[in-house]
Amino acid sequence: NAKKNGGNKAIFYSEKSMHSDVDRPRLEAHLRRAIEHKKIDVFYQPKMKVDTEVVFGVEALIRWTDEEFGNVSPAIFIPIAEETGFIQPLWELVMEKACEQVSKWNQSRSHPLSVSVNFSARQFLEPELMLQTVKKILIDKNLPPQNFEIEITESILLNNSAEIVQSLQTLQDQGISISIDDFGTGYSSLSYLKDLPINTLKIDKSFIQNINEDLKNTEIPEAIISLARGLHLDVIAEGVEKEHQKEFLLSKNCVLMQGYLFSKALSSSDFEQFLSNYEGQKNPPDFRHTEKG
Ligand code: C2E
Ligand code: MG
Ligand code: MG
Ligand code: MG
Repeated sequence: NAKKNGGNKAIFYSEKSMHSDVDRPRLEAHLRRAIEHKKIDVFYQPKMKVDTEVVFGVEALIRWTDEEFGNVSPAIFIPIAEETGFIQPLWELVMEKACEQVSKWNQSRSHPLSVSVNFSARQFLEPELMLQTVKKILIDKNLPPQNFEIEITESILLNNSAEIVQSLQTLQDQGISISIDDFGTGYSSLSYLKDLPINTLKIDKSFIQNINEDLKNTEIPEAIISLARGLHLDVIAEGVEKEHQKEFLLSKNCVLMQGYLFSKALSSSDFEQFLSNYEGQKNPPDFRHTEKG
């Protein structure tokens, strides 16, 4: 386990470690304590409108550094939080921190940023509670619903339950945007898309990363872009790392992008620096190296 490895902080970055002899009860206990003490951070990855060179929003991404386990990847602890029910307080924590921070940033901006928060299926098990909590936090933090977006994966929509559609509708009626995260990886039927209250398709990063320099493997992103267009939805690409991927997307008129080519997810103070440098167009800092490399 992590202890035997002498505190090797990289261990939890590996997807493989999920199946290794991690001291799971101990990790769970540490996670519980971190949530209780609000020792979970929210980082912010810029969302770019590349044609006009504007940072239009941020995605809130959770970060946890444990004394013993080191930096634990959300890919590891989000599933644990979902299984144990910790995901509810965790979600509230992210909502509060992210809405407060972005509302604060927007006070001194002529063009407000929008903030996206990742919702997990668990949030939709108690829709009334979820809707009330969202409403309360947006009011408390003074963030207009127009500047708030939720990201959900296709799997949440798979059963196409009337209750979930109703919850999404209620959110959308208030001015909140709904984005389908990791789009294209959910193996779902496309027919459901037409009737759902959604605003944006977010092309999964695996499809973007498959686009190589001689522009092979462009079929799926192209298909998703034209699907979005046909359904009058916005489309954004995640995981843009290379110049040629950006150029390809621009050539297809997909102008909304996120990825290490622009910036990784940043702490609030690093994001402030990124923003002032980017918007001031002077001395752009290099935030592009990957978090995990
Ligand atoms: P996601 O929502 O699809 O977020 C995108 C992930 O890709 C993030 O990983 C981000 O850091 C990473 N990424 C961004 N740009 C690039 C790039 O150019 N190249 C590569 N290779 N990766 C890039 P992260 O932060 O490790 O999060 C992983 C997943 O954990 C997220 O996937 C999301 O599903 C989940 N997650 C993170 N924060 C939250 C949260 O607050 N609540 C919930 N329910 N899930 C969360
Ligand atoms: Mg996301
Ligand atoms: Mg995604
Ligand atoms: Mg993902």
